[in-house]
Amino acid sequence: MSDFKINTKCVQAGYRPGNGEPRQIPIIQSTTFKYDTSEDMGKLFDLEASGYFYTRLQNPTNDYVAAKLAELEGGTAAMLTSSGQAANFFAMFNICENGGHIVASSSIYGGTFNLIDVTMRKMGIDVTFVSPDATEDELNAAFKDNTKLVFGETIANPALTVLDIEKFAKAAHAHGVPLIIDNTFPTPVNCRPIEWGADIVTHSTTKYLDGHGAAVGGAIIDSGKFDWMAHADKFPGLTTPDESYHGITYAEKFGKEGAFITKATAQLMRDFGCIQSPQNAFILNLGIESLHVRMPRHVENGQAVAEFLEKHPKVTKVNYSGLKSDKYYEIAQKYLPNGGCGVVSFEIEGGRAAAEKFMKALKIAAIETHVADARTCCLNPATSTHRQMTDEQLEAAGIPAGLVRMSCGLEDKEDLIADLEQALATV
Ligand SMILES: *Cc1c(COP(=O)(O)O)cnc(C)c1O
Repeated sequence: MSDFKINTKCVQAGYRPGNGEPRQIPIIQSTTFKYDTSEDMGKLFDLEASGYFYTRLQNPTNDYVAAKLAELEGGTAAMLTSSGQAANFFAMFNICENGGHIVASSSIYGGTFNLIDVTMRKMGIDVTFVSPDATEDELNAAFKDNTKLVFGETIANPALTVLDIEKFAKAAHAHGVPLIIDNTFPTPVNCRPIEWGADIVTHSTTKYLDGHGAAVGGAIIDSGKFDWMAHADKFPGLTTPDESYHGITYAEKFGKEGAFITKATAQLMRDFGCIQSPQNAFILNLGIESLHVRMPRHVENGQAVAEFLEKHPKVTKVNYSGLKSDKYYEIAQKYLPNGGCGVVSFEIEGGRAAAEKFMKALKIAAIETHVADARTCCLNPATSTHRQMTDEQLEAAGIPAGLVRMSCGLEDKEDLIADLEQALATV
């Protein structure tokens, strides 16, 4: 399907039924698979033949959906994971183990920041955080001899900063390491990081890809472009024999196109088991079938809400890269010419108390720890996800107490604006 446009791929890529086969992706609700001889199954274990033996590692339903995501992002291989957290952990840990070092944008999802800064440090992995706005010199200064990868988010959740992917890719490649981009917020409909030099793309499919708040999941897509063998000493896990897999050298046997995902499946899925359930993969695919129709509406609603808020006297600041006044407007014009996403954040005069009063008065937007859903939802980080922090700490982290994050859904924008208007009138 690689010649087709993204709209067609959203609907049809990944699964091509044969004569008389089901039109919709079958849910293979089976933990295991049957073989005629032990020899047949042995070949699968040795990675001599491809096929399925146990759903902790691989399942056909998941693979249909992963193949669709690979086509959407322009990659060569992909896998689904049980969550976005698992996807980011696998993507990094697949090439960065004890003794390694990560260069990461400081403007990333809180869960990923914690994963890298606390949990991966406990595993003996070091990290240097850089500003998403870092200059080339500042970026280059962050690398060490043991750096294995660079990590960032296209549009960061919740700060809504937009990453200069080409700049980050250039720095990564100059130091012989890949760039991993979490592309959850724009989705491949609005940005395909591989086209800008990213090597590996990750997703929390829980967000827009599912889009209906129905299934937690994640995905990893490999561009197939990074030459592991050219930097063999940095990535021994891919370029030397894996004794836990009969001495297979992934980069030799599966090439640039397949080594990364094969290793992540054969080693990490085998040992950690963070597989997405086939049921959830089926639900995810239903979401992706309309992704190209939904994203423009999320953007239209986000833009309308941002423009309304910007003019409102009780709103002191609006963050949305589609606004000309936004710090990231120019860079968004380059990477997100059709818009970014439906998430807007803004500050209300009167801080925490005003934000709380405003949110209580909303009729359409529900208060939720979620974004990127068909239904509009909102959150005040100071009283929820970040409630352990003082006002001073919040200010320093760029999350003022009065900040509200609003994820614009697929409702009518006039209704959304009327709801905001009446709720702001109560403050
Ligand atoms: C939500 C989110 C994650 C974590 O995904 P889960 O599916 O909740 O585990 C990672 N990255 C970004 C950008 C997210 O928004």
